[in-house]
Amino acid sequence: MNYRYTVSPQSKDSIDSIAENYLHSEHPEVLQKARALDVEKFLDVSLVKTHDITIEIVESIDENTEAITSLLEKKIQVPVRTYEKIRKGDRRARFTVCHEGMHVILHIPQVLTILVGLLRAARASSLGIGAITSNIPGKAFLDPEWQANYGASALLMPRRTFIPFCEERIQDGIPYHYIIQDIMDVYQVSLAAAEKRFKNLWESLLYKQKRL
Ligand SMILES: [Zn+2]
Repeated sequence: MNYRYTVSPQSKDSIDSIAENYLHSEHPEVLQKARALDVEKFLDVSLVKTHDITIEIVESIDENTEAITSLLEKKIQVPVRTYEKIRKGDRRARFTVCHEGMHVILHIPQVLTILVGLLRAARASSLGIGAITSNIPGKAFLDPEWQANYGASALLMPRRTFIPFCEERIQDGIPYHYIIQDIMDVYQVSLAAAEKRFKNLWESLLYKQKRL
């Protein structure tokens, strides 16, 4: 779900670390070997325990909304339709759960700062809160939606297992297409999510190699 606010800046590296720390305490099994995160447990047990949030299953929100997180009310609303998909292991629904979960992990702790920022900006512009947008060109790292999307990938495909998983296959000469398919199967993610994560981490891997 899209929000119209900006948040504290986060680099890819810092989001990867935050996601990894969370997994380390709540889902350590996914850091030991490449495997699919139990997103039902993440939603129904882990987030409730770590952030004291409420999961509310609702009839529907609106046609295009797969789930929505209220930072102030500390609540994730999940339409029945999405919840059914989560239970069936639908890959897009798995990503949606992690996206909302990252709003909770990254943004609930700064909800007061966000509110103050919105009020200040609204007063300064005299446009009202609704007019403020998070779509600031070239400043994706301040955008809560970009952060939640990157974070969802970091939860579903943790850096610690993803990099060796890919490296092994690259060294074995397995073609890109098959590596992506393996990522999709093992982590239970969509084609788009697998390709994006590969691109993002491959860049950081190359960067690391250059520094050696
Ligand atoms: Zn969102």
